[in-house]
Amino acid sequence: MILRFDRIAMELPPPSDPDPAGAAAVQELMGGRFGEMSTFMNYTFQSWNFRGRQGARPFYDLVANIAAEEFGHVELVATAINTMLTGATPESNGRARTELATKRPLADVKGLGNPHHFLAGGQGALPQNSQGRPWTGDYVFASGDLVEDLTHNFFLETGARNNKLKVYEMVEHPAARALTGYLLVRGGVHQVAYARALENLTGANLMKMFPTPRIATEKIPECQPHIERGDHLRLYRFSPDDYQELPAVFNGPHPETKEELVVFDEAPEGVPPRDLPPQPAVFAPDYAPEEIAEIAQKLRERAGLPKEPTGLVADLEEQAKRSSKKASSRAKARA
Ligand code: MN
Ligand code: MN
Repeated sequence: MILRFDRIAMELPPPSDPDPAGAAAVQELMGGRFGEMSTFMNYTFQSWNFRGRQGARPFYDLVANIAAEEFGHVELVATAINTMLTGATPESNGRARTELATKRPLADVKGLGNPHHFLAGGQGALPQNSQGRPWTGDYVFASGDLVEDLTHNFFLETGARNNKLKVYEMVEHPAARALTGYLLVRGGVHQVAYARALENLTGANLMKMFPTPRIATEKIPECQPHIERGDHLRLYRFSPDDYQELPAVFNGPHPETKEELVVFDEAPEGVPPRDLPPQPAVFAPDYAPEEIAEIAQKLRERAGLPKEPTGLVADLEEQAKRSSKKASSRAKARA
């Protein structure tokens, strides 16, 4: 079973200039062959199907925990795509400033990026690749043979990092850059983890045999905060009590930096997600979101819940706006 936290793995920049074409490219990291849905489902199926797991416990724990981390990566890619799509359509439905926006609120996004983002979805991420083709279970390799599966996983992380670097180089949007910077570092850890597992199992050193892809993450600005934090060395244990045998297989020096690998004995802290604004032109969550909010408010009161929503969201911009408004009204009052 999986325990869920209403947090995302890292802080992404807030919505800025919308970038539907960039969002379509980032979909490769979601539903492409080497995307996060693939890493997530590969390791998830391998862990579900793992036979003789007591005998092979450290390897089972490794695959199961990386699977759990990948769920959070899928979530993070979705968050980046949603951030990039925010504001691509007029946000004040029916009350838009321009006539065109009133009459044809989706006209401006015709021919930009993936039409499904607007037509099939509510300006949200889709389980598709950058060409709009659906993710498929054909991308899952779970042979049941541990050496084969681990070798495949090493290759999968290699391809994933290759794609991340290409997306980084194609898309300039700050959310895409922050996303790929983080995923490059974490993918590097997974690559090392599978290589080390194989080394322990067979003696073959994949990092030496196949030094690929050559990505100097320390030179990428968006990778640096994660490297400084030590996230390029850490494997997280995603459970309060289970999966205790990670250190048996994830240990020793990092093959490139020679720093000591670390098993971090809990899940990453993460950050509260940002509450992205409604996009009424695509009915997300409705053409008149305030009506839903009113109903929710009544239901909340009837259930004896606090008046304010209890969930924690990072709405830093709003907070900043409010406090600058307060500051300016204080300044006016003084004047
Ligand atoms: Mn990942
Ligand atoms: Mn990975």
